[in-house]
Amino acid sequence: MPKHRDQATPVDGDAPPVPWHALDARTLSTRLDTPVDGLNEAEVRKRLEQWGPNQLPHARSTPAWRRFARQFNNLLIYVLLISAATTLALQHFIDTSVILAVVLANALIGFIQEGRAEQAIEAIRSLIAPRTTVLREGTRRSIDATAIVPGDLVLLEAGDRVPADLRLLHASRMRIDESLLTGESVAIDKQVDAVPQGAGLGDRLNMAFSGTLVVAGQGLGIVVATGIRTEIGRISTLLRNVQTLKTPLLKKMDRFGRQLAAVILGVSMAVFIGALARGIPWDDAFLVVVGLAVSAIPEGLPAVLSITLALGVRRMAARQAIVRLMPAVETLGAVTVICSDKTGTLTRNEMMVAQIVTAGGDIEVTGDGYQPHGEFLRDGQPVAQTEAQAIRELAEMAVLCNDAELQAHDGLWSVSGDPMEGALVVLAHKAGLDPHTVRANNPRVSEIPFDSVQKFMATVHRLPDGRHLGCVKGAPEQVLDMCAAQGSAADAAPLSRAEWETAIDRLAHAGYRVMAVAARPLTKADCAADEAIQNLTLIGLVGLQDPPRQEALAAVAECQHAGIRVKMITGDHVGTAMAIARQLGLHDGDKALLGTRLEKMDDEALREAVRHTTVFARTTPEHKLRLVQALQANGEVVAMTGDGINDAPALKQADVGVAMGKKGTEAAKEAAEMVLADDNFATIVTAIREGRTVYDNLRKVIAWTLPTNGGESLIFIVAIALGLTLPLSPLQVLWINTITAIGLGLVLAFEPAEPAVMNRPPRRPDSGLLSNYLIWRVILVSVLMAGGTFLAFETALALGRDLETARTLAVNAIVAMEAFYLFNVRFLDTRSLSLQGLKGTPAVLAGLSAIILLQLAFTYTPQARMLFDSRPLAWLDGAAVIGTGLALFTLMELEKLIIGRRFSVHGQSPHEKPHA
Ligand code: ATP
Repeated sequence: MPKHRDQATPVDGDAPPVPWHALDARTLSTRLDTPVDGLNEAEVRKRLEQWGPNQLPHARSTPAWRRFARQFNNLLIYVLLISAATTLALQHFIDTSVILAVVLANALIGFIQEGRAEQAIEAIRSLIAPRTTVLREGTRRSIDATAIVPGDLVLLEAGDRVPADLRLLHASRMRIDESLLTGESVAIDKQVDAVPQGAGLGDRLNMAFSGTLVVAGQGLGIVVATGIRTEIGRISTLLRNVQTLKTPLLKKMDRFGRQLAAVILGVSMAVFIGALARGIPWDDAFLVVVGLAVSAIPEGLPAVLSITLALGVRRMAARQAIVRLMPAVETLGAVTVICSDKTGTLTRNEMMVAQIVTAGGDIEVTGDGYQPHGEFLRDGQPVAQTEAQAIRELAEMAVLCNDAELQAHDGLWSVSGDPMEGALVVLAHKAGLDPHTVRANNPRVSEIPFDSVQKFMATVHRLPDGRHLGCVKGAPEQVLDMCAAQGSAADAAPLSRAEWETAIDRLAHAGYRVMAVAARPLTKADCAADEAIQNLTLIGLVGLQDPPRQEALAAVAECQHAGIRVKMITGDHVGTAMAIARQLGLHDGDKALLGTRLEKMDDEALREAVRHTTVFARTTPEHKLRLVQALQANGEVVAMTGDGINDAPALKQADVGVAMGKKGTEAAKEAAEMVLADDNFATIVTAIREGRTVYDNLRKVIAWTLPTNGGESLIFIVAIALGLTLPLSPLQVLWINTITAIGLGLVLAFEPAEPAVMNRPPRRPDSGLLSNYLIWRVILVSVLMAGGTFLAFETALALGRDLETARTLAVNAIVAMEAFYLFNVRFLDTRSLSLQGLKGTPAVLAGLSAIILLQLAFTYTPQARMLFDSRPLAWLDGAAVIGTGLALFTLMELEKLIIGRRFSVHGQSPHEKPHA
């Protein structure tokens, strides 16, 4: 039996669990049969087959029959079922079968739509499945966390969720929050020494348990248990992260729908009594009331709204913006400020060292991206031999204090690890060094990992002659403070601080990202020892090129048109930040706020400062939180980007927290509402555009649905109140509602963005779906639709047509008005009478064609005649039907021109005007 059968809980369950925490590192690797450079792919496949994927079983979703049954739990269906029973008792068999067919069709459509919406959400969730870094066959690989097997070597760093149960082999300042497992809220300091066999979970300091969060430091562990055999798997074997499609607005609409239904039932009762008082026989009166209830209840609305939302979420995902929490879809449309990181989001994050400054002066480095070929030039000429020696020393230190690796696949060079560190590895190649050999000859004995607050990284190495060397690289201001000399570690001269400061400014203002490299021979091997980061010798500066993303430039301009302000919040040097801001069109005079100044401001001063400042430099994640709070206190709706674990509080606080999908930690992703699969600023703007479109479409669905229901119910109320003949029979209303809700209402969920969607200011966050203007429009259109129907019906009667023909005409007139009104609604506040407006979309055309065919069937087939009492219409009648629809369309376009202009359909933001 292979040795890795020793998992914490063996599958057969008869052997006792292995006390991995009590074993020493050497025994561990032997028992798990793992070579020092990790497993190979063949072995991984074998183990994956043996142990299965590293995942907890999902909570079983609701069975299909139950989801289908749920469709019947709806007020309208109750009304219909009662009507079906009553008509059955009255032996109106045709009515009974039509009503039952409608009930069934309704349930079926609801069931299918709901299923599709849920599938869309499920598919999106799988896009942000956690990833993890493993060491296999000597190389670091980022893989899906489910593909981990026992014996895998997993690299952990701050912000990672531990993907499986690991026995730690290496831990550098590593702290893990195990509250999920032990309830202990203080993060635990991890170490690698064996602990007694009887130690409880919380005392197993050399273990990292699946699902817990690395809050600081970094380390390496060997997987001892995966999937349900992990500690967390044993506690709860089910994963419950069911995400519903409900957002606050949809919930509000649901509530509104229920209240509306209650009112409608009340009105229906009143109409029933009124009808009886008028001497109408009770069975007829009952059918009238059913017709009224059916016509008035917007039963399709919740489903169509959910579909609209699901489609929006899917469109966003297709454009690399993955929405984790549904309410974000709504909030996105209201965003007034985007606070963005610089590196990788606004810039390309494809770094290249383009300048070096040593004690001897400035040197230009040529080359292309990560390709390890290039030259070192001074004033256009290759540098002298002595200079080359200084460059080699700088490159050597930079590659030692570094975790990145350069890889080539099919002639394409890429970096695994931090791109900036990758650029330093490339530099080493250009200087004629082999990074592998340099690292192998000078093994690292201790380290202080980089973090975005202290802004430097330090390592200690054992040199071939047994002495030790400390290497530091980091933000130049920080490193300069640690230095007392300059030149080379072995041959140092006193530090000329002012000259270096000038050089730093020069590089930063040219837009380079600047890093300083320093070193010092040490007597101790311990990085934590103070001497490792004091009295260093500054070897030199590197200036890294990281050009702005072209698409970010266009996205910034789009934001300016859309009344959204963009702020850059970066850990980088103020000069670099300003240079990049200028290149992106974010230029804002000379105003930039430094983290150190921000720290001294009280909340009031900060609120004032954020109004006018665009660039925030040398900030720490803590500053981000204060900035979000200050902006929110000013009434802004803030989208904030982040990637590190320390960014999590700011991401949570922001209205829309945006995490980076590629370089972001799991902690940041979990705190965010949205994840950018491509880490690109432009994607945020695309998501905002989609967010605005979704919101528009929700409003369009409502603007279409409510007046169509309103118009139909008004017909019944007016007819009963005035004692007129009903222009529609209850069954005909059922027909109209069923076909138009799907053929017309649903197509609005597929509407593309209006052309001007990013040329208007953000909507007010507190504006509901039903603005005053929308309410006015619902009333107006209801009245016009009811009026049009009566007009068609009464004219036909006056012209001597029989009741059935007049009703057929009325049904067609209503459907025509609803179809024409759809075109008005497709553009809420701009003219619909344009080429684009009239052309429609594939969804509109499909819906419309279906409606026309169904209406022809309704009017001319004998089956419809039998079921609905319809009669064929003459050509001229057809013209009248289209004329009625056209009249409504024209009136509504005039209304947009005259009245619509004075209202804003979109509820303007109070504090923001669109920029010129
Ligand atoms: P942004 O917040 O826009 O992504 P940033 O990446 O520059 O900006 P940080 O990652 O906090 O922000 O980096 C701040 C500074 O720390 C950098 O300007 C650089 O000088 C230094 N630095 C960044 N990464 C490393 C690293 N791996 N090792 C040493 N120093 C680093």
